[in-house]
Amino acid sequence: SFQALFVDNTEPFSVAVKPVSLDDLPAGEVIIKVAYSSVNYKDGLASIPDGNIVKSYPFVPGIDLSGVVESSEDERYKPGQPVLVTGYGFGVSHFGGYSEYARVPADWVVPLPDGLSLREAMIYGTAGFTAAMSIQALEDNGVSPDQGKVLVTGAAGGVGGAAVAMLAARGYHVVAGTGRTLESDYLKGLGAAEVISRSEIYDPEAKQRPLDKQLWQAAVDPVGGNQLAAILSKIAYRGSVAVSGLTGGTKVPTTVLPFILRGVNLLGIDSVFCPAELRLKVWGRMANDLKPADLETLVGREVTLAELPQALADILKSNTRGRVLVKLS
Ligand code: NAP
Repeated sequence: SFQALFVDNTEPFSVAVKPVSLDDLPAGEVIIKVAYSSVNYKDGLASIPDGNIVKSYPFVPGIDLSGVVESSEDERYKPGQPVLVTGYGFGVSHFGGYSEYARVPADWVVPLPDGLSLREAMIYGTAGFTAAMSIQALEDNGVSPDQGKVLVTGAAGGVGGAAVAMLAARGYHVVAGTGRTLESDYLKGLGAAEVISRSEIYDPEAKQRPLDKQLWQAAVDPVGGNQLAAILSKIAYRGSVAVSGLTGGTKVPTTVLPFILRGVNLLGIDSVFCPAELRLKVWGRMANDLKPADLETLVGREVTLAELPQALADILKSNTRGRVLVKLS
């Protein structure tokens, strides 16, 4: 047997490391010895009673893994091959990465791209992949390093921090927006040219203008909410915003004006069901032109399975910086 982190909703709700055997793992063609997983906001939600992520209990969360193929019934994968898994039902409806071994459908497996270690793949994890998908979507819509500043919101978090680091690696002038301006040195270390506070982007006390001063060519926004409406009113003519998250709320009180008078694009980013072709292309870029010189700068914390319950609680309170790595073996 081996160890995995279980959440269980039989009273009292619990999050605890327990022994498990391969027979307990859900169906799939590929068994992976997990090297690293990570902590995402969604994993935090999966570990609380009313998070609305987990469908049935007891359950092993963890939406990410990197590791080595132990055995495979699918000829695309061979024992010893380094791979990663993010998205689909992983850590949501199918036991996830907080486990020393995982069994998954072969279609969910991504070969580790050349140029990334197993550790680096999970420093990125779903957060980094989502940030990279956001950059890809912006560039597909005409955004480029020579066209002006790019805003990143929630910059001290996982998606935000990865976006800052990758945009800077690509040569963009990055404006990091954060509620934690105390983290300015960290954000500049990631490559931000400027750090601004949440209240400079959206001031709840001030009257909101449907069209405001054009400050940024584009934005990577994992925060949403009122702040997203404010961003849309400040994006330059024909600029774009890639929205991926909701830590600032789900309601966005915008008007049509940025769209119809300035040709602004609002681009939706979903990493979960990202088609295989785009998935491989984006992971390839994360190992190449988007790769920061030192990915380790993004690591806020590294934890073991035993330390995970605290890290899961912390991410929901924005008590983590950058990315939280989970070391399995
Ligand atoms: P995270 O590490 O906790 O980062 C979230 C950041 O949001 C925080 O660090 C904080 O940044 C900011 N924030 C938190 N509460 C806020 C509030 N009330 N108002 C404004 N900003 C607030 O989480 P993550 O893993 O990066 O995920 C971020 C978001 O992206 C989540 O909503 C997640 O569900 C979503 N996501 C979506 C996808 C997708 O496929 N669409 C994939 C991954 C993640 P500062 O401290 O810097 O202000």
